[in-house]
Amino acid sequence: MKAATAVIDCTALNHNYKILKSISPHSQLMAVVKANGYGHGALEIAKSLEHADYCGVARIDEALALRDSGVTAPILLLEGFVSKNCLPKLVTYQLETVIHCQEQLEMLSEFKTDQKIKVWLKLDTGMHRLGIRLEDAEGVFNALNALPFVEQPINIMTHFACSDELDNDFTIQQIAEFDRFTQSKSIGKSSLAASGGILFWPESRRSLNRAGIVLYGISPIAEQEASTFGLAPVMQLESSLIAVRKHLKSECVGYNGIWQSTRDTTIGVVAIGYGDGYNRSIKNGTPVLVNGREVPLIGRVSMDMITVDLGPDATDKVGDQVILWGKDLPVERIAKQSGLSPYELITQLTSRVKLEYIDNLAP
Ligand SMILES: *Cc1c(COP(=O)(O)O)cnc(C)c1O
Repeated sequence: MKAATAVIDCTALNHNYKILKSISPHSQLMAVVKANGYGHGALEIAKSLEHADYCGVARIDEALALRDSGVTAPILLLEGFVSKNCLPKLVTYQLETVIHCQEQLEMLSEFKTDQKIKVWLKLDTGMHRLGIRLEDAEGVFNALNALPFVEQPINIMTHFACSDELDNDFTIQQIAEFDRFTQSKSIGKSSLAASGGILFWPESRRSLNRAGIVLYGISPIAEQEASTFGLAPVMQLESSLIAVRKHLKSECVGYNGIWQSTRDTTIGVVAIGYGDGYNRSIKNGTPVLVNGREVPLIGRVSMDMITVDLGPDATDKVGDQVILWGKDLPVERIAKQSGLSPYELITQLTSRVKLEYIDNLAP
């Protein structure tokens, strides 16, 4: 009997990589594996995608772990480095870095090495989180160009604030800002598109696209599930029934008795809870698959378990399989129902959840 387990389908992962590559065949594609591969296991994801053009991580420790486990693909630090002590590691571990602020430029300027470092100047074209403001970008670009150990020409990137809003032309404005800056310059690679850009904004697909959530087979927008783009979910979150109980009309269940039955029924107790990362704010009525059939979550999510209404005629038994999300129950549906984002649902899984890697999810 399986307790909370995230089954990771490497075939689906590689399928998604191929689909995303085919959307923009002349671009390189980065597998973004930050935050432990969006909860899927960064090392395993990077290894399974061993032919990926690039891997992307947020922090240097994530990159070092990939290199230490034998990943040889180019790796880009999407937030760059945070102290000058990181700089020698960029060289020895062959890491490419984003430069998004003056402080990073200053640290880099004081560094010395006889090898080349590949940098990506990050422009703030409207996200206003990380990135060099456009009025300052010329100066940073020239300063980077003047450093002898910085590989020329310099790569340029930016990140979109609203690429998941299909009727918002802010993305078009950001692309225009990017192009205005790069137009008359000799630059290396350019990278604008993350998941939203890859799927919805063709003009943003340039030399390198950065695939995060879509790589894991999840849509970046609530209105459309990933399967409509030909993508397959990589993670299936599974557990088992640990109790099947008779339940009488008007009885409550769980902490604070927030659910009360309107009929005699059967209740299933599933071994997964917020201690596994199944979010406590997931609401009553959210679908759960028991033996392949959708039943509603009822009562409050506890630390180690949830309860579901199996119905009066249930024949389910202790030990039977339960699926919280996966192939036949997209995590987008759980997210929508609970007002959470699929990004947080998948990255929140805790270390108690076992990750199991397979080549093909059983039909
Ligand atoms: C996380 C991240 C991505 C991936 O975003 P998705 O929406 O998951 O595709 C791309 N670029 C940067 C800079 C990021 O931080």
